[in-house]
This record gives sequence, C-alpha cells and structure tokens, in this order.
Amino acid sequence: MVLKLHNTLTRKMEAFKPLKKGAVGIYSCGPTVYNYPHIGNYRAYVFVDLLKRYLLYKGYKAKHIMNITDVDDKTIRDSQKEGISLKAFTTRYEKAFFEDMEALNILPADAYPRATEHIKEMVELTKCLLKKGMAYKGEGGSVYYAISKFKDYGKLANIDVKKLKTGASGRVTADEYSKEAAQDFALWKAYGKEDGNVFWETEISRGRPGWHVECSAMSMKYLGKTFDIHCGGIDLVFPHHQNEIAQSEGCTGKQFAKYWLHNEWLLVNGQKMSKSLGNFYTLRDVLAKGHSPASVRYLLLSTHYRQQLNFTFEGIEAAKASVERLNELIRKLQGIKSGSGKTAVVEKEITAAAKKFESAMDDDLNISEALAVVFDFAKAMNSRIDDCMMSKESAAAVLKLLQKTDSVLGVMSFEQEKLPQETMKLVEERERLRREKKFAEADKIRSQLREKGIQLDDTPEGIRWKKIS
Ligand SMILES: [Zn+2]
Repeated sequence: MVLKLHNTLTRKMEAFKPLKKGAVGIYSCGPTVYNYPHIGNYRAYVFVDLLKRYLLYKGYKAKHIMNITDVDDKTIRDSQKEGISLKAFTTRYEKAFFEDMEALNILPADAYPRATEHIKEMVELTKCLLKKGMAYKGEGGSVYYAISKFKDYGKLANIDVKKLKTGASGRVTADEYSKEAAQDFALWKAYGKEDGNVFWETEISRGRPGWHVECSAMSMKYLGKTFDIHCGGIDLVFPHHQNEIAQSEGCTGKQFAKYWLHNEWLLVNGQKMSKSLGNFYTLRDVLAKGHSPASVRYLLLSTHYRQQLNFTFEGIEAAKASVERLNELIRKLQGIKSGSGKTAVVEKEITAAAKKFESAMDDDLNISEALAVVFDFAKAMNSRIDDCMMSKESAAAVLKLLQKTDSVLGVMSFEQEKLPQETMKLVEERERLRREKKFAEADKIRSQLREKGIQLDDTPEGIRWKKIS
C-alpha cells in the first residue's frame, strides 16, 4: 500500500516516493535551548516520531536529523542575564530536552547537530550565496539574503511577496519577523557589543550566523542537497522554512526538500498557550501533576497532526484511560496459559485489523481512524477472552500484533509486572487454601492483599492479579 502525505509545498496529498528506494531522509527543526520546551513544542516532536515510526513500520530505513539551536538572540540574551557562559547555559536546557524526549518515548534522531559546531558550513553557504549574487554585504560586515533574487520566494506559504510590506530598511537582523512583512534577512550578523564574548572570526567578518542559515547548512550536510521530508510546526512555514528553501536552492540550484510536513498548533483549553494567560505548560509541569509520560504522548499523537489539538487535563485523563485499556488487554493475554478457541478465526481478525490500521495510517497518518481500529480490535479480543475463546497460540499472535502496532504508537507496556516475593507468597498461599476449600482463610488473605493495592480475580485460566490504586 502506498503512503500518502500532505505536502505543504504543493498543498496536495501526494504518494510518498523516496529519492532512494527503501530509504528516507528526514529533517525536523529542533529546539532553541534557552528554556524548558512547552507541550506545544513536544506536539511537533511527537508528530515527527509518529511519522518516522510509521516509515520504519513500513520497512523503510530512516535517517533523521534534528538541529539544536545553541546560539541565537535569545540564548545570548538570557545567558548574559544569568552571567554564565553560552555553553553552560545551553547545556542545561539541552540536557532537559533530551530527558523529556526520552520520557515521551521519542526515538532518538541519528544526529542532533549543534549550530555552534557548524559555523564553517554556514559560512560556506553564505559565501556561496554571495558569489551567486543572492546575498549582499551590509554595513559592519553583516550579510543579507536578497529575497527579490529568489524567484519562488513566498511559494511555500502561498503568499504573494509583492503584496507584503517591506520593512523600512528592507532587511532585518532579528531571527524572527512577522508574517506580514517580507524582508531581506541576515545570513550572517556582524559582531555587536550586545553579543558579549559570543562571536566567531571568519572570512566574512567577526560575528555569528543567523538562525535560518543553520537549518539549511546542517540539513544538507547530513542529508544531501536534496532530501525527502522536512518537518516542523506550522508556525515555522514563514519565514523560517521559506528562508531555508531560498538559501539552499539559491546556492545549489537543486530542489531542497521534496515533501514539507507541518503540524498544527496546540491550544490549551481552547486558547493559545501563553505565559500571561497562565496556561503555559512545560512537560515538567504536566508530569509534576502526576500524569504519566505515556498519557501525554497518547494525547499529543491522538489528534491528526494537521488539526489543532486542544490540550486539557480532562483530555489527559481520557488518554490515560485509553492507554490503560490496552495495557489491561496485554496483561490478560499474557496470563492465558491454556484455553480453547479457534486459532484460524483469530488469525483472520488479526490480519483484517492490521490491514485496516495500515490503510488508515497510509492516508496521511489518519491516526483517529487507526486508533479506532486498534480499540475495536481490543474490544473483540476482550470478549473472546471473557468467553474463554482464546487459545494460548492465539493470545501470542494477538500480542505480536499489538507489539507491531505499538512500534508506531509507542504508548503500551509489555513488561510483565512482578510482585515482590513476599506478596507473591501470599497469593500462592491463598491459592492453596482455596484448593483446600478453606474459603474463610482464603478470603482473609484476599482482603489483606487488597489493602496492599493488589486485586485478585479468579478466572477459568486460574488466578490473575492486578494493581489497583
Ligand atoms: Zn529549522
């Protein structure tokens, strides 16, 4: 089956065709390490993870690169405010970022290049653009990109540049500027006092790179002049991604990324997240309220990436319940030691579910549809188990399918929980008493265990325990 993806560049659904058979190169814009990322940032990273995991599921080899912006206006400003070196400052937030990524079960990228370690590549790209007449030197040794020289400027965001305002000077040094103004942007920023001790002595001048040039230089270094997929949040379409295209294609004359995928905003209680509204949450804030990373991950991925996601704490509770439903089925399947039931029928159901899951995901990662398939299947398997219609072989096959599905979703837990030895002894003791028909004593142990948060269920398969809160 063919994977179809929505390409921002063409505004169409397109069949995904990799440049190299069986392999895919992905670049996604990473964090600026000047604070703790908020959950909106993690929506973008979870989306890329879902895409990558699904490509792996389909048998592609994936090479994924994500940059770390460790020098820009904000990192310099805030490290100075604290009076520590840029490196010490950014290292703190880089570490926090990796901890969060691991907590959210996001597969690591193949490389996380840091901007400060790729100044040479950025200088080369800037020099190339100067040589081709796409860039010009300004006063003091800064270099600007001349957007009028790039024919397709504005194409990615579908905006007519001629209709946009140009700034008074026609160019900006700030890394970020508004969507209403198209401006020549800085590729290289000449040193200014405000940069303190952050600068590089280069052939261009003493200074530092602009933000946009970083992604062009590093993506091409690791993935080649043309690569398959570029991802990012929708807020990056203009100007950041448009500028990346202008820089890369302006220098190489080749198409930069073939497919551009953008995830929508995350809202909090229906509003844009902002510090002043008091609805600004980092992942740490959410976990500190006692929510599990799996619930957060489930919530972030369960809305289609091109739809706005409304983040609420009720939503996290619902996500938690969904994850628990799947984990409970897994526990039940793992507990099946015998049992009847026609294996062939279950096999058929497994094949049908896998096919439906794939065709949903092939449709531009239609996750709501895919999850509906998973839960319908789980429901059917639960009733089979309740009716004692699940053989040990079937249970193993169902578990295998769930594992395969979870290689995409990354939210389930397959580890069999173990009880402490002492508790386990009590469970066994109760079993013995029950077999000997000493029910009163057996019940006593049962309530004793309940107090410890262990619930025992007698099933035709034998005794089953689960933790309760
Ligand atoms: Zn970028």
